[in-house]
Amino acid sequence: MPLNWNDEHIPSKADKTTDILGLKEIGGVGQLVYHPFRFKEYTYSLNGKDQLVYPVCKVGQEPEFPSPEGLTGKELLISLCNLAKVIDSNDNKVPKEQLILKWCKDNMHPYRVDLIYAELSQDFNINSVEADLVERDGIFEIDRFMKDLGNLYNAVRFYVALEGLIYSDDEIAYNLYEEGRYFESYNYFEKYKHTEPDIPDEVLKQIEASSKSIVETMQRTKEYTDTHSVHQPPEGEFDFNFNHNPYDDYDKLRSKLVEFIPDFNMRLKFNSTTGRFDFSAEIDSVFDIAWYTLARMISEDPALENRQREETRPEGIMICCRHCGKFLIRRSNRQEFCDSEECQRARNARKQMAYRKRKAGNDSEKKRKQRKTKE
Ligand SMILES: [Zn+2]
Repeated sequence: MPLNWNDEHIPSKADKTTDILGLKEIGGVGQLVYHPFRFKEYTYSLNGKDQLVYPVCKVGQEPEFPSPEGLTGKELLISLCNLAKVIDSNDNKVPKEQLILKWCKDNMHPYRVDLIYAELSQDFNINSVEADLVERDGIFEIDRFMKDLGNLYNAVRFYVALEGLIYSDDEIAYNLYEEGRYFESYNYFEKYKHTEPDIPDEVLKQIEASSKSIVETMQRTKEYTDTHSVHQPPEGEFDFNFNHNPYDDYDKLRSKLVEFIPDFNMRLKFNSTTGRFDFSAEIDSVFDIAWYTLARMISEDPALENRQREETRPEGIMICCRHCGKFLIRRSNRQEFCDSEECQRARNARKQMAYRKRKAGNDSEKKRKQRKTKE
């Protein structure tokens, strides 16, 4: 039987008339079985031009096995995105290598997770050559981690921005494109900020006079508007108005996002918590876990036409804090800010401002009406 995010059983919603077997039709496919373990220490050094990370597996520094319940796919996804955010920030002073190794020590070893777990669990003897084998199999490149992290971070930011559009919250989409220190985010929303200029009469006349056909005229006027389109800066601090609504292209943008999600191989895996075999995605790295979690989120989103009703906005989806931009899983469908004191203060300030704006609007409306009745 399938489980929801809170690991409660959900009744089968299998549609007997369909030929497509989705997650809801085959119980258990949505589960992800993986075995977290972490090394207590790493070293890193340059090998030619590659920066390599070496895990330490020695007596006194035995790998640990955190409980899988304490390290869900959702939590790994969120914490990888927040790691990316810190690494990419221009304010961050800690070298990226240190941040990555700290993440690995706090969470789990990132690569070849199934293989190393198997090596560690079958009568493992840390005083033997087996420990050397584990150390060797655990080596990974910082560059590879950075590349995997950047790809994931970009897709997640795009996902969160697209989610916002559905609820007329354009802020994240509006601010999506930026050059960070390492990761350059997608620029899919940039074109919606531009306004197309009116073509001056004399330019139009000139194009028409020198074009050989209507098609050429059209091409050249389009070239003109493309090269002369203006980027309108927002009018106020909280003004995130696109000139064209990207929501109109939602399906197209969404397909773009789905293109970035890698394919998964499925196979039977032994789930030690249930003592059963589950049909699960093949997992090699923490990034596979994160991608799979994101894919599952997307596959569980309701159809577009059911989503605009506020009450159907599912709980437990990923958002960025409106103030600090940190990724989090929302506890209620109204949550927009993280719990930090500063962000809660910002939340109250915004609420007050919205109230004042509304009140000012109401007052001027009242005055207008009063004036009208006097006339
Ligand atoms: Zn925050």
